[in-house]
Amino acid sequence: AAAPAANFLRNIIERDLEAGTYAHRNWAGSPGDAAYHGAGQPDPAKIRTRFPPEPNGYLHIGHAKSICLNFGLARDFGGVCHMRFDDTNPEKEEQEYVDSILDAVKWLGFGWEQNGTNHLFYASSYFEFMYRAAEALIERGHAYIDQQTPDEMRANRGTLTEPGKNSPWRDRSVEENLRLFREMRAGKHAEGSMILRAKIDMASPNINLRDPAIYRIRFAEHHATGNAWCIYPMYTFAHPIEDALERITHSICTLEFEDQRPFYDWLLEHLRDAGLLADPLPKQYEFARLNLTYIITSKRKLKQLVDEKIVDGWDDPRMPTIVGLRRRGYTPQSLQMLAERTGASKHNTWIDYSVLEGCLREDLEAKAPRAMAAIDPLKLKLTNWDDVIGAGKVEPCSAPAHPHHPEFGERKFNLTPELWIEREDFEEVPPKGFRRLFPGNMARLKYGFIIECTGCEKDAEGNVTAVLAKLVPDTKSGTPGADSIKVKGVITWVSASEGVATEVRLYDRLFTEAQPDAGGRDFLDALNPNSKRVITAYLEPGLAAAQPGDTFQFERHGYFVADRKDSVAGKPVFNLAVGLKDSWGK
Ligand code: ATP
Ligand code: MG
Ligand code: MG
Repeated sequence: AAAPAANFLRNIIERDLEAGTYAHRNWAGSPGDAAYHGAGQPDPAKIRTRFPPEPNGYLHIGHAKSICLNFGLARDFGGVCHMRFDDTNPEKEEQEYVDSILDAVKWLGFGWEQNGTNHLFYASSYFEFMYRAAEALIERGHAYIDQQTPDEMRANRGTLTEPGKNSPWRDRSVEENLRLFREMRAGKHAEGSMILRAKIDMASPNINLRDPAIYRIRFAEHHATGNAWCIYPMYTFAHPIEDALERITHSICTLEFEDQRPFYDWLLEHLRDAGLLADPLPKQYEFARLNLTYIITSKRKLKQLVDEKIVDGWDDPRMPTIVGLRRRGYTPQSLQMLAERTGASKHNTWIDYSVLEGCLREDLEAKAPRAMAAIDPLKLKLTNWDDVIGAGKVEPCSAPAHPHHPEFGERKFNLTPELWIEREDFEEVPPKGFRRLFPGNMARLKYGFIIECTGCEKDAEGNVTAVLAKLVPDTKSGTPGADSIKVKGVITWVSASEGVATEVRLYDRLFTEAQPDAGGRDFLDALNPNSKRVITAYLEPGLAAAQPGDTFQFERHGYFVADRKDSVAGKPVFNLAVGLKDSWGK
């Protein structure tokens, strides 16, 4: 593989490794270390990153980018990447999503086990520590219980241009704050009646530092901790603590979190000063999220597509979910390639969808065995069969499974008196430059004989129902006479008696607009009405044995994958993964 492209994150890590920033991490004495890592043990990992999804939905292509980035950096720099579920929100989180996320990460080619250690973490297992951290802030005068109503709190937060106003509850005594916070934990107060806030600066130009909420009351059952808690930490409080407890060195997130970084640092420094954490503390770095044209990644909008049955579920091959991409025929390598190529940047940009398709094409070109298919089938009758080959006989043909990989072996199939060819390969009155079949013209049946077109059959409406042609004797591919006549057109074909009639789904982009949800537009108005076409195609006989997930190049058409859900033994269903050329909009 090519050397990974340089990006600013690599530069930061290289600089940290050179400076030895994380070389002598001695966490002895940190309760976090004792509880989760064994006090005083030197950290064998040079760096630690993490992939921290909330288990509240299916992962999409943007998450794939984050997975490749975080696991990739750890791999390249002698580090470890933690698989961490950020499951601090009791609502909306489910085991089904936990399972599907683990599955997606594994499928992408990454693992969280290294040197016999399982780096799979759940943020909810730190609830007790988080609670103690909150008490420590209260004890040191850095947090208070606020009893303003949500409306009052909003009104007093201020705006970008105006400072906020101090809460009337801001100067409560430490004792009162501790008592109320313990009562919150004990379930003595109603949801929404009070929250715990950090005491920072209501006049800060950064709104995130205007006394952010850190704990709220929720009488909700949590998927992992059940009813043990009725108070839950806010994401902005929980996340830095999770990073610190896991000894993360480089905490990489998307640009929206840039304004949160001052609170990230404020919190960890105050907890270090309180003796709960030790240096070196993790640092947050932001990169631009992956934006791909013709794709939406908003969970709410993807859910709408599923709920309104616009697509056939989360794993519909048109969905940008990892399960959808996988069913479409995307390979882990193609998604890794996309992540590499799009690098890590500090500026939001749009990547064209064709970059994603190009990665798949590039990966499959070397991997996918070839096969012939008639996608828009038209009958071809070889009228002199009995004279040239013999009545009732078939003519065995063969072709390499891959033009550059002899080790893939040979495909075998028979030429028979009736074939399926592509409708576009015949023209009764040929346009200028047309080289394929028209009356009087010769072309080669790929891997077979040269044929001469003699005419066609039509139905009552004048539609062509069959093409008529004659075999030219002694011109079979691979025989001494093959080159005795020069022809320009090559025709792909499938035997009409031996080919397998197969359901093929021709997928296209789900949207007709590059940015379907830009500028307040309803993204449903940008739906491509032709994003799925189901046809019956005729395929080379060998494809009847295709296993779910097998990918092939249908010669001249594109890459197709045997659908992993709807294929049954001996009867695959194929999905178009990507065409051979980028033809969108042409
Ligand atoms: P939501 O917050 O709406 O639930 P999310 O997409 O932020 O959705 P998370 O589960 O929080 O989902 O994401 C896990 C990780 O994936 C985060 O670190 C996040 O930064 C990263 N991520 C999500 N979308 C993208 C994207 N488009 N490009 C790069 N990274 C992304
Ligand atoms: Mg999320
Ligand atoms: Mg999120």
